[in-house]
Amino acid sequence: MNDCIFCKIVNNEIPSKTIFEDGLLRVFLDVNPSSNGHMLVVPKKHLRDFYELDNDILIHITKITKKMSDLAYNKLNCDGIRLISNHGICQDVKHFHLHIIPIYKEEKKLRALDEILNLLTK
Ligand code: AMP
Ligand code: ZN
Repeated sequence: MNDCIFCKIVNNEIPSKTIFEDGLLRVFLDVNPSSNGHMLVVPKKHLRDFYELDNDILIHITKITKKMSDLAYNKLNCDGIRLISNHGICQDVKHFHLHIIPIYKEEKKLRALDEILNLLTK
């Protein structure tokens, strides 16, 4: 999918603030975060939405999502995690992605993405 922005990110054609990567997926910071540490879990293969995921990638996404959520608890001291996946008319980018949105007891001012990336990856 040449015009897909997430394909371009996973193929390193455009930059991203990457937190984790393996052969099957990449996790990077959302460029327009809802909270500090808002991440997207994105399979490398262009799969449009939830309904196109097979069980193997679903299981892998779930495992990595747990790992990334632990990271947010441990490194960002969040108090909760919201997992969201938009489909149909509410899905802007038509390449499956799972939002991991850390939630804080007290609303925190948004920090620079590089600052958050440092905290999550150091
Ligand atoms: P949705 O498809 O509605 O779940 O939302 C797409 C999400 O992708 C939004 O939260 C955007 O801020 C995010 N997004 C779009 N382009 C980029 C990009 N180049 N890098 C990181 N996040 C992006
Ligand atoms: Zn794509």
